[in-house]
Amino acid sequence: MKQTNLSIFIPHKGCPNTCSFCNQRFISGREKAPTPEETREILAAQVSVLQNNNMQAEIAFFGGSFTAVDGDYRRRLLYAASEYVREFPNVYCGIRCSTRPDCIDEEVLEELKLYGMTAIELGAQSMNDEVLDANQRGHTAEDVRKASRLIKAYGFELGLQMMTGLYRDKTEYCMETAREFAALKADTARIYPTVILKGTMLDELREKGLYNSFTFEETVDLCADLLEFFEKEKIPVIRLGLHASEGVEDSMTGGVFHPALCEIVKSRIMLRKISEQTEKIGGKKFIIYTDKKNISLVTGHKGTNRKALEEKGVRFKIKTESGTDLRVERQ
Ligand code: SF4
Repeated sequence: MKQTNLSIFIPHKGCPNTCSFCNQRFISGREKAPTPEETREILAAQVSVLQNNNMQAEIAFFGGSFTAVDGDYRRRLLYAASEYVREFPNVYCGIRCSTRPDCIDEEVLEELKLYGMTAIELGAQSMNDEVLDANQRGHTAEDVRKASRLIKAYGFELGLQMMTGLYRDKTEYCMETAREFAALKADTARIYPTVILKGTMLDELREKGLYNSFTFEETVDLCADLLEFFEKEKIPVIRLGLHASEGVEDSMTGGVFHPALCEIVKSRIMLRKISEQTEKIGGKKFIIYTDKKNISLVTGHKGTNRKALEEKGVRFKIKTESGTDLRVERQ
């Protein structure tokens, strides 16, 4: 059975901050927070959809700072969600939320436990205090460490989210953030390259010529390093880049967004592996054996890997081999 998240956006509700990159209205596409009744309607409508697609979902309160919203409203949402988990355990297998690291304490974790919350994701964004401060996050790296330890101590699944290319960010800071996530024993990670949205502080800085995010190429290389690192640490990266459906393209003025970003990054990793093997074997013409599902990763998005290798005088043919990631032979 396939697993998914049924996302319910709680936009900007209860958030007193103005992070440099955030404009919730553009990302969630709606300003109004759903009532508990509307939440029930969404959940009820999705039961048969999920059943017909043989899928199970976690009910995901995403978008803002779930543990910072009005307590009564939050508990009513949680009550509605927990009813559906109880009534349709084969359809709704848990509840998750995203929140800020400085909005976690014992009291709120007790409450989340009571309603059957399974996973908590923290928008850490960076583990570098200079970057956090420059982007007006209003919390420190130590807040992320404390909240993460508490979440783990209460037995929740811990998700940590990071951004790349924020104001004053450096690629080495991003790698350091990933290493800290691993040290905190994150169960999942999300990587969001910065998208500069209209009306944000980042956009103002960009207009004044004081800031630009990492380039597309820098981001692809960095995200490839991050994915390889998290894979080595056995931390699943459950999202790379914003969803295309989040309406960012109309509102973005800079930064990195591509609907196929994850595939592009994975094919960059494949390019690295192919280059390493062809250099080791030596020669100019090769046969690459790979499973059918990996062919587009080998050739690269719009043939970019093939072109990059051809520029180095390397040519290859592909032969499918079921279950093989990559095997290279000289032709
Ligand atoms: S804390 Fe979250 S919702 Fe609030 S401004 Fe920052 S990113 Fe936006």
